[in-house]
Amino acid sequence: MDDQTKRKQFSPETLMMSYGYNPQWSEGAVKCPIFQTSTFVFDTAEEGKAFFEIAYGMRDQKPNEKLGLIYSRLNNPDLEILENRLKLWDDADDCAVFESGMSAISTVFLEFLKPGSLLLYSKPVYGGTDHFIHHILKDFGIHTVGFHPNMSEEEIIQLVKDTGHSDKLALIYIETPANPTNALFDMAMAKRVANYFSQEESPVYFAVDNTYMGPLWQHPMEHGADLVIYSATKYIAGHSDVIAGAVLGNQALMARIRGLRTFLGNMAGPWTGWLLMRSLETLKVRMDKQTENAEIIADFLNQHPKVEKVYFLGLLDESQPKQFAIYKQQCTAPGAMISFDIKGTEKDVFVFLNNLTLIKLAVSLGSTESLVQHPATMTHVDVSEEDRKLLGISEKLVRLSVGIENPKDIIWDISNALDKI
Ligand SMILES: *Cc1c(COP(=O)(O)O)cnc(C)c1O
Repeated sequence: MDDQTKRKQFSPETLMMSYGYNPQWSEGAVKCPIFQTSTFVFDTAEEGKAFFEIAYGMRDQKPNEKLGLIYSRLNNPDLEILENRLKLWDDADDCAVFESGMSAISTVFLEFLKPGSLLLYSKPVYGGTDHFIHHILKDFGIHTVGFHPNMSEEEIIQLVKDTGHSDKLALIYIETPANPTNALFDMAMAKRVANYFSQEESPVYFAVDNTYMGPLWQHPMEHGADLVIYSATKYIAGHSDVIAGAVLGNQALMARIRGLRTFLGNMAGPWTGWLLMRSLETLKVRMDKQTENAEIIADFLNQHPKVEKVYFLGLLDESQPKQFAIYKQQCTAPGAMISFDIKGTEKDVFVFLNNLTLIKLAVSLGSTESLVQHPATMTHVDVSEEDRKLLGISEKLVRLSVGIENPKDIIWDISNALDKI
């Protein structure tokens, strides 16, 4: 049924309710149950032997031979079915889910970077990723260098050469749009830089953390990415009630990621897998509504006398030709993340934040409820002052993740709190 269903080329949102699951496996249950089990029974000793041979790479899989269920650190139906569904959005060969976005990211770093390697990354990256790069990779003797959104291709190539380790460049890692400023990085350009430094024996891989655009509004593999990473905690789970992550890519790279996941033991559990499958059924309707709301709210903020500047992809136009061109090239919607500068100081911004009644003051994003936070003192507090200046993360900046509430109510709340300044 699976292959036939897929061959009909239904849209991913149509397939989220059923794809990859057969009710006959579970007493006719229309929904995939939670397979809350650590281990699986083999029919025969021969079968157990064959599964292990494949799982541990002792021999190649024969045509039509399937890897059976062994043990939930290696595989579990709730993870496999979830992974098969996640693959559909990005049209990827393979997917692996993790117990958090950070475990997805750190597994990619540990698999593709070795002592002496060089990592090139975009600035700013997510706070946890930034910490991992500067504190943990450093202890493993991995060199790192960051580039910012205003740098040209030539400047980035020169930056890599200036490290003295350009022959050891192993991974390019970017987040676009950048959090919290929504500055866009050109993925096709990053891919050209990867190709420029790739050598026959040591290819340079290119990974994109696509959390900010979810699996709906940007498909990095169409623009040259080898790996796509998600904090599934955000849009994919979408209800602020679970922490999870995912990595997608081609068969060969994902075999390496899965291998390391098995031995780090940082796969998601069956309960997390089940929750994410439930969330995926409404992914499209949630995200459609979120971006629709965000456009309305960005327009409101853009006209408000107490707001100095709004950073929202939907407001880009010919006045910023480079950013606008990248937006048109790689995004299918403006997303639901809005940042804006309030006229005044940190004190005024805090008056605004403390007077919101509907919108919750909390970090995280992509959920059904709207969330607001102050990057300079919260998510980006340990970014150096110099970088904060360069990147525009000032005391005036507020970051808003737009939910699925009635937009009139969100606007009422924002308007009311702005009036209190
Ligand atoms: C939240 C987030 C992460 C980390 O994900 P967790 O699920 O919290 O581990 C990584 N990257 C981005 C862009 C994020 O927003």
